Amino acid sequence: TAKSRVTVVGSGNWGSVAAKLIASNTLKLNSFHDEVSMWVFEETLPTGEKLSQVINRTNENVKYLPGVKLGKNVVANPDLENAVKDANLLVFVTPHQFMEGICKRLVGKIRADAEAISLIKGMEVKREGPCMISTLITEQLGINCCVLMGANIANEIAVEKFSEATVGYRKNKEMAEKWVQLFNTSYFMVSPVQDVEGVELCGTLKNVVAIAAGLVDGLEMGNNTKAAIMRIGLREMMALSKLLFPSVKDSTFFESCGVADLITTCLGGRNRKCAEAFARNGGKRSFDELEAEMLQGQKLQGVSTAKEVYEVLNHRGWLELFPLFSTVHEICIARLPPIAIVNVKFK
Ligand code: NAD
Ligand code: 13P
Repeated sequence: TAKSRVTVVGSGNWGSVAAKLIASNTLKLNSFHDEVSMWVFEETLPTGEKLSQVINRTNENVKYLPGVKLGKNVVANPDLENAVKDANLLVFVTPHQFMEGICKRLVGKIRADAEAISLIKGMEVKREGPCMISTLITEQLGINCCVLMGANIANEIAVEKFSEATVGYRKNKEMAEKWVQLFNTSYFMVSPVQDVEGVELCGTLKNVVAIAAGLVDGLEMGNNTKAAIMRIGLREMMALSKLLFPSVKDSTFFESCGVADLITTCLGGRNRKCAEAFARNGGKRSFDELEAEMLQGQKLQGVSTAKEVYEVLNHRGWLELFPLFSTVHEICIARLPPIAIVNVKFK
C-alpha cells in the first residue's frame, strides 16, 4: 500500500511543535513518507528575510518556537495550495479565526482521499448556531476530521517534557489509531476517545475559563478563588457541551483534553497571562493591545471564544445559566470591571 503523506497547515507555536512530533515519527514508521510539509503564513522578519526560508535554512521556527530544531524532514512551504496538494493526511493547527478563509482557499485543492485532524481550539458562530472547527473542515472540504486536544502547552512539549493528549473521533476507530500512531512519542502519550464534540468543546471552552483564572491572578485573589473559578468553569463547560451535543460523554472531561487541559491552561497559558495583565491594569488596556505587546505575534483564543460563546448563549436564552462564561465576555469588552468575575452569583 502507498505511504501516507502528511502536511501540517499552520506553523505557530503549537503548529511548529506538532510538526516536530510528527516528523520524529514519520522517520521511524514505514507507513509514512519521511518528509513533512508545513504551510507557513509568510512574513518578513526584521532581518529582511522570509520566515519560511529561515525555517528551511536553520530548521528552526525562529519567530514562533525559537531554540528548537524541528527535524530536517520538516519542509516549510509558504504556498498553501502547493503544500497540501500531495498530502492524504492534513493536520490543521492555526488560530481558529483564520480557518474559514483557509478552508475557502482549499476547496478543490486537496486529494479526494484526504483525512484531517484539527488541533485548533475555538469555534465559529453562524446564523444557525455554533460550528466547531472540525465541522467547518468537514463541511467545507468534504473530508472526515478528527481532533487532538489536551494539556499541551507547546513550549513544554517542544523540550520533550512528558504530557498526554486525547484524539476525538466520530466513527472510524482505525483512522483514530492512525492519528495516535502519528503523534504518540515516549514523552507524548495520546489516547483515542469516541466523542469528537466533547473533546473539541473541552479544548475550546477551557480558554474562556483561563481568562477568568488570569483575572483572579491579576486581582491577587489567591489559590482558593482560582480553584473555585476552575471548578465553576468546568461545570459550565460540561453543561454547555451537553446542551449543544447531548451525545457528549461525562468521561471525556476526565481525559487529558478535559480537566488536565483546564488546569495547565489556568496555570501557565497565554490566555491566563494576558488576562492577568488586563486585570492589573484595571481593564484600561485592551486585550488586543496586550496580546500584541506580550505575545509577539502569537494569538489569544479565549477572548474571541468568550464572545462566540456569549452570542450562542444570548441567542438561545441561556445567559443566566452560564454566569461565568457570560461575565468573562462582559469584562473583556469593558462592560464590567475585572472584579465582576467574583461578584457573580454562581450556581
Ligand atoms: P500562534 O498563537 O503561535 O499563532 C500565530 C500563527 O498564526 C503564526 O503561524 C502566524 O503566522 C499565523 N497567522 C497570523 N496571521 C495569519 C493569517 N491572517 N492567516 C493565517 N495565519 C496567520 O499559533 P499556535 O500556538 O500554533 O495555535 C494554533 C492553535 O493551537 C490555536 O487554536 C491554539 O489554541 C491551539 N493550541 C495552542 C497551544 C500552545 O501552547 N501554543 C497548545 C495547544 C493548542
Ligand atoms: P493558551 O493558548 O492559553 O496558551 O493555552 C494553550 C493550550 O491550549 C494548552 O493545552
